[in-house]
Amino acid sequence: MKRLLIRGARLIDPSRGLDILGGMLISDGRIEAIGAELVNAPDPHDGTEILDATGLVAAPGFIDMHVHLREPGFEYKETIASGADAAAAGGFTAVAAMANTSPPNDNASVTEFVLKKAAEAGKARVYPIGSITKGMKGTELAEIGEMVEAGAVAVSDDGLPVSNISVMRRAMEYTTLFDIPLIEHCETPELHPGGVMNEGFWSTSLGLRGIPRASEEISVDRNIALAELTGARFHVAHLSTEGALRRVAEAKDRGLRVTCEVTPHHLVLTDESVKSYDTHAKMKPPLVTEADREALINGLKDGTVDAIATDHAPHHADEKGEDFDHAPFGIVGLETAVSLCLDRLVGTGILSMTRFVELMSTGPARVLGVSGGTLEVGAPADISLFDPQKRVRVDPDKFRSKGRNTPFGGWELTGAPVRTFVAGRVVWSAE
Ligand SMILES: [Zn+2]
Repeated sequence: MKRLLIRGARLIDPSRGLDILGGMLISDGRIEAIGAELVNAPDPHDGTEILDATGLVAAPGFIDMHVHLREPGFEYKETIASGADAAAAGGFTAVAAMANTSPPNDNASVTEFVLKKAAEAGKARVYPIGSITKGMKGTELAEIGEMVEAGAVAVSDDGLPVSNISVMRRAMEYTTLFDIPLIEHCETPELHPGGVMNEGFWSTSLGLRGIPRASEEISVDRNIALAELTGARFHVAHLSTEGALRRVAEAKDRGLRVTCEVTPHHLVLTDESVKSYDTHAKMKPPLVTEADREALINGLKDGTVDAIATDHAPHHADEKGEDFDHAPFGIVGLETAVSLCLDRLVGTGILSMTRFVELMSTGPARVLGVSGGTLEVGAPADISLFDPQKRVRVDPDKFRSKGRNTPFGGWELTGAPVRTFVAGRVVWSAE
């Protein structure tokens, strides 16, 4: 592989508090040198490729710790190859794939299958997440040790909560042996049979069955208590309410190993988006109120939130074309996350560029315990290059993902990925 010199970029590395105008030299898939002195480095004339990145930001590769790649079993919605391609096009160098496939990732052979398909695709890295329970049925623990051995980085039954409290206790105890995070979809479904949106003003106005915010908060409470009992690393998936955030902040203050992620859609939209009965506003957890949205944004700023994750959930257009009660929950997120966050959070001055990069790379790398999240010399050259000034119009027809289910089609946004490198190799480029 040719050496590469990226020159003139704004280099942001939250792992070392670095924010400079500089350059970066990449060789053999790793960062060989980085610094302000390379900003106008002369042409080496030794065959090194040169990339003028003036006006662009170079960040440690973005990691989406919550995606659904649907393979095996639902290849009509997404495949590992199309999902990894969509990730690269969205500026992500790695994703963590949830286990709710068919069959679910509840044993080492499925974990190995996911890794093999990801290697064949050669786009973003894919970290498999094993299920907590066999068949995701919530009763018997899955082969967690064997999956970790095969490369699983965390466990989760995401899509479903683990309702049985003693199963959850044993799962948490077991994960401490491997020091991996247990990621929970925090929901209490018995509380709201048939619920399709947030319970409140809009559900009443629209005549749709509600899901109260307590559904998430009861589960977060219970699992924090179990994390305290077991010492497990407990991570709240797609945290959405002010009350759940408050509980996580309090657990962190007490020194528990509790972390959380929020999605771009919960940071940008509220349950008012449901008023046209658009099924692209149907997700789990549901879109909530403006007060919750503001609380989540404060959580990004004050450090309570560890990561922004998309919960990328591709569905076929025919499925999302059903009426609101029957359409599946979820939207795609890989190819809109960076632009949405740059436009709505960084461009508006709500988040600093460094904190944005931290939430997209250093934070999720730390939660998952994977490499990345840094531009240190010697680190793998996983790099997200983006243009904070580039104007884009979201066009779902151009997505690399097979899923077109997004509420953001037609949105005009400022800021977009430009080029994505994995181990020094270009896996996607805007040109
Ligand atoms: Zn979930």
